[in-house]
Parts: sequence; C-alpha cells; structure tokens
Amino acid sequence: MNSTGIIRGLDNMGRVVIPKEIRKYLDMTEGVDEFEIFMQDDCIVLKKHKPTCVFCNAESGCIEFENQIVCRGCIEKLQNKIIENEISE
Ligand SMILES: [Zn+2]
Repeated sequence: MNSTGIIRGLDNMGRVVIPKEIRKYLDMTEGVDEFEIFMQDDCIVLKKHKPTCVFCNAESGCIEFENQIVCRGCIEKLQNKIIENEISE
C-alpha cells in the first residue's frame, strides 16, 4: 500500500472527500460509482466497486438480467445445463 501524501479530515457528518486527482485516476463519476470498504488492521481501504457475476464473481463480460449481474461464462454453463436436462428427459 503506497501513501499518496494527502491528508484529509473528517467533516462533522463523518465524511471524507476523495481528492479529485484520485477520483480521476480511478475513472470515478460522482453520484454514479461506488466504493467497497475494507478493514485491514487499523486501516480503511476503499476499492472502486465493480459489479460482479452472482455465480463466480467475474468482473468482465457481465450483463444485467432481472436485476442480477451474470457473466457470459455462467450463461453458457446454464444453457448447457438446460440442454443436458432436456436430453435426459
Ligand atoms: Zn459467472
């Protein structure tokens, strides 16, 4: 973990502003993107949240279906499972 050298205070509501240069580096859009919050010893780690497949946690090749994120690999496995079941019936 590298220090950015940036020190920011908490406001009265417990909020911290993420510096603009860090938001830009992470390609974050205000009001749209989200952070996932991790704890490591006495540190708080923020990671840009990326939607992942509900089955395998893949981050790429995903589509949204019925308010769930599913990757193409899992869609193919489901299709194959359906075909297998149709053949065995
Ligand atoms: Zn998947």
